[in-house]
Amino acid sequence: MDVSIILTYRCNSKCSMCYVWQHPTLPQEEVPLATLAKIPSGVDYLNLTGGEPTLREDLLDIVDLLHPKAMQLEISSNGSYPERLEPIIRRYPDVKIRFSLEGFELTNNRIRGERGGFDRKVKGLLRLKELGGKDLGFAVTIQDDNGPELAKLFQFAEKHGVELATSTLHNGFQFHKNDNRPYNGLRVAQHIESLINQQLRSRSVKNWFRAYLNLGLIAKVLGHDRILKCTAAADFVFIDPWSDVFACNVRPDLRLGNLNTSSWEGILDGPKARSIRELVDKCTQNCWMVGSAKTAMRVKWFPKLPKAAPILWVARNKLRVTFGRSADLGQILDPLRARQGPVGPARPSFLDAATPRHVQTGDDPYYAQLGEFLNE
Ligand code: SF4
Repeated sequence: MDVSIILTYRCNSKCSMCYVWQHPTLPQEEVPLATLAKIPSGVDYLNLTGGEPTLREDLLDIVDLLHPKAMQLEISSNGSYPERLEPIIRRYPDVKIRFSLEGFELTNNRIRGERGGFDRKVKGLLRLKELGGKDLGFAVTIQDDNGPELAKLFQFAEKHGVELATSTLHNGFQFHKNDNRPYNGLRVAQHIESLINQQLRSRSVKNWFRAYLNLGLIAKVLGHDRILKCTAAADFVFIDPWSDVFACNVRPDLRLGNLNTSSWEGILDGPKARSIRELVDKCTQNCWMVGSAKTAMRVKWFPKLPKAAPILWVARNKLRVTFGRSADLGQILDPLRARQGPVGPARPSFLDAATPRHVQTGDDPYYAQLGEFLNE
């Protein structure tokens, strides 16, 4: 099973597609070590995320506790405090680090509301590489504003010997957003198509399977059904900063229990978990969040092994690009089949904005007030 832990909703970036930073948590309420200790050993993949996880002063202690329990541990950071990750990489060079990067200097800093963010995270990641980090990379949320830079961003990552992970705009309680939609889905999809062809041309097997993951992003961007079924609550769960365990980070109604007050087994093996898995089975959301995509692509009992559908797609399309053709995306890119939801208000840049922050506490039943987060 994969576990994502939202260690905090505090964040020092001011992204236009994620409003976590407007709803910070109180540090004393954030999931404590004693609660995290209840997570059993043998987790396939453990992601420490936020908010900004490096704002947790006990991050090294958390990694000390959880690294032995997971086959792979990732820290998803905005990269603004790379020096806080140095002791972690010195001790655990295999910890996977991804810094969010939304494009080159102007684009990244505008989308993420980060003054000097691009330089800081690029220098920071390269420093972690010098220190011996083995699995480092950037992570981009593909959208209208950075689509044109996608191909160059991939080359930039390749040049520096680091990875480029991709996702796209989603709505969900983790982001406090319900108006994340592309303005021109077809154009965004075409940028992803170019990336798919580049990835299939590369020598890295990882990139070939990322190409398949990106095929799922095209389906998401154009409003097609998921290309593989979701297995939330069975193959992955999210833990929020108040230690609530959810099937995913989109639907706040899929809450399994609270890890402060219950055991791991009590939460995952009880009748509530069974009923939530039934809801997941009927979920009609068209999401392709990285967590749900990765787990859907792999064989349950052999998490390093992809399922037959991705293997066959990769084999066929690797062969096509090897012989000078483009990947066959089937009907996914057909504009006549594309379903586009209504475009929400323009995403503003918060680079110079002083936006009030509302501290969110565990007593405040605000998830319930937020309603449904929809991914059409
Ligand atoms: S498909 Fe539904 S249950 Fe699965 S991650 Fe998306 S919103 Fe959650």
